[in-house]
This record gives sequence, structure tokens and C-alpha cells, in this order.
Amino acid sequence: MNFPHFPSKLPQTGTSIFTVMSALAQKHQAINLSQGFPDFDCDRSLTYMVNQAIKHGHNQYAPMPGLPWLKEEISAFTQECYGTTYDPETEITITSGATEAIYCAITATVNEGDEVIVIEPAYDSYIPNIKLNGGSPVCYTLEAPDFRINWDHFKRLITNHTRLIILNTPHNPTGTILHESDIRQLAAIIKDTQIMIVSDEVYEHIIFDGKQHQSISRFPELVSRSFVISSFGKTLHTTGWKLGYCLAPPPLTKELRKVHQFVTFSTSTPFQHGVARYMKEEKEKIIQLKHFYQAKRDLFLSLMKNSRFEPIPCSGTYFQLMKYDQISDKSDTEFSQWLTSEVGVACIPVSVFYRSGKDNKIVRFCFAKEDETLEKAAEILVKV
Ligand code: PMP
Ligand code: GLN
Repeated sequence: MNFPHFPSKLPQTGTSIFTVMSALAQKHQAINLSQGFPDFDCDRSLTYMVNQAIKHGHNQYAPMPGLPWLKEEISAFTQECYGTTYDPETEITITSGATEAIYCAITATVNEGDEVIVIEPAYDSYIPNIKLNGGSPVCYTLEAPDFRINWDHFKRLITNHTRLIILNTPHNPTGTILHESDIRQLAAIIKDTQIMIVSDEVYEHIIFDGKQHQSISRFPELVSRSFVISSFGKTLHTTGWKLGYCLAPPPLTKELRKVHQFVTFSTSTPFQHGVARYMKEEKEKIIQLKHFYQAKRDLFLSLMKNSRFEPIPCSGTYFQLMKYDQISDKSDTEFSQWLTSEVGVACIPVSVFYRSGKDNKIVRFCFAKEDETLEKAAEILVKV
């Protein structure tokens, strides 16, 4: 057959590692601690609320920027958590997952030739989104094992072409978080510039050991130039519902919505109704989420105590990094494939989150799993 020839917009991009490793896990019947999703169901009362919304006929297009009721609940909850009020009408947009919000924020702001600073290891969607818009990713590389930002070094990446900085806290894949001092240093660095921020905060409610999530929305001097993005997929154990949102001041929201309306137009109506009601009636469960996941992290760590994997401290997210250099000198990609196909536990190699493919001999395990799954996985991993 004759197919048309055309230049690829993403010539270096293959299938995402999450899809690849989950498929490999399935093929080899391995316990899947690779792709980040819970293997347990969400709250029954939440599915009931979504069912009720469908039953009561909330089945047509939602308003383009999102259901007003849901935006009001998000506004109130953001105010309660971080002390900043976003106007539901002009500053909050409901999107089809954080993925869509990230795409829309980048597409709305990045023009041909713009530079965007990305902190790597970086979540896989950022760089392709920048490139699709003709921008150039400029990478700041975090070094293992503490993965902290040296702001004096970071500052040197800023040029007259810098349009955007992408942040992610709590951070996937490292499990590190930004501290108040980090944000203050960043604010000082960009104070006299027009640089904007996309802050990916999808794990905002999964933070451990009494630490506080430093949302960009806590910092008035940054709120005016930032898109703050979150996802109900992580917060409510509903990754398959693809429901997220973006907080941004009116001029930024206006541009983001111009893109959003032509990407999806609007997001699934009954899910918005169900989640709005859940936020109103069951908010306390969201506040308690960090304790639920801290117990999972601690269980996984205690089960792995006698293994030859060496854990790297995790302050947030549902990912635990492990160094495996006492076990093998394989590359992290080969090691992950081997662990999945021969040993029976799937993980994610961290090198794929670096543009350079930097290999620190570290893999990522997802602990958003039933205790029984973690026990079975650890039983295998301690023998490796
Ligand atoms: N950002 C990060 C850091 C993530 O880990 C994820 C999870 N897949 C997303 C964005 C995308 O979230 P969503 O599933 O809501 O699109
Ligand atoms: N965020 C999830 C992870 O890091 C996966 C998302 C996806 O599969 N695209 O594993």
C-alpha cells in the first residue's frame, strides 16, 4: 500500500514507557508496579454520586470551562488548603486530566523559538508538548540521590528567550518536593522578567512525614504568572476518569481556554457532577489521603528492608525510587525489562525521564497498590 510521506512532528518520540512497561507486565503476568495507577477501586460513594448524575440526566455537554458547581468546590478547597481565592468564573478551568491542562497551558504560551526550562528527570509529556509548539526545551538536571535544585546554577539557564518554567512538586519520578525556600529563590530569580510558570501539582495531596505541599498558589507574587495544575485521577483513585483542572489568573486562563475549547471543548459531565458532590460531602477523605499513602510507602519500605535494593527517600507521590547497583550492572532499562520478564515484578527505569538517558541505576516502583500486592511483590524482590 502507498502511504503519504510527511515530516513527523515528533520524530524522536516512541510509545510512552508507561504503556510499554504495563504491556510487558501483562505479557509476562508480572506484578505491575510500573505505571502509576491504583490496583484498588475508588470510594463507593463516589461511584454512586457519578451514577446518580447519569441517572438524573446529566449527560450532555458540560460548559466549556467546566461545571460551575465543581469550580466553586475547587475554589473553596484551594482557599482552605493554600489561602488563595481563585474566581471560579475567570480563573478555574476543568480539563480532561492534568495531561490536557499541561498541553493547553504550554500551547497557549509557547511560540516558535521560545525556550522552556524543564527540570529533569521530567514527566514524559512536557518536552513533546514544547516541541509541538516550536519551543526549545532547556533542561536543568537534578542529580541523584537527593535531586535538589541549585538555584544559582538554575539561574544561568534563563535567557531573553525564556518563556516558561515547568515545575512538578511532589515530583514524579523522584518523590522529592519543593520547599518554601526553593519557591522563594525562584520568585526572586524571575521577579523582573515576563517568565511564566506551569506548576504540575497532581500529587498535591500525597505528601508525607508532616511536610507541607508548597503549592505555587500559596505565593501571591507567583500566582499572577502561573498555571497551577492538578488531577482528580491521583486524589480520588480514578486515573481512568481523566479529570483535572487548571488555576490561573484571568489573562492566562483566557488564553488557556482558547486552546482547551478546540482540544476537547469540555470534559465529561456526569464525572464533574459526581466529583463536585464528593468534594462537598467527603472533603475530609481528600485531606486524609496523605496518611493512606504514607502507610503504603512505609509498608513497602519495611517489606523491602532485607532486600539488596537501596531506597531513596520519598517525601511525596506514590512512587518509591530504588537503587539496584548492588544487584546488577545492567542499564536501568535492561534491568527493568529483566525484572519484569524474568523475575515477575514490573518497574520503570528512571533514565527515560532524562533527555540524555542518564542512567543512575535507579528504578521506580509504584506503591499505589493493595497491601497484598505489595507483600507479594516484596516477597519476590527480597530474593533478587
Ligand atoms: N503529571 C504528572 C507528574 C503525572 O504523574 C501524571 C500522571 N499520569 C500527570 C501529569 C497526568 O495526569 P492525568 O492522568 O490527570 O492526565
Ligand atoms: N503518571 C503515571 C506514571 O507516572 C502514568 C501516566 C500515563 O500512563 N501516561 O506512571
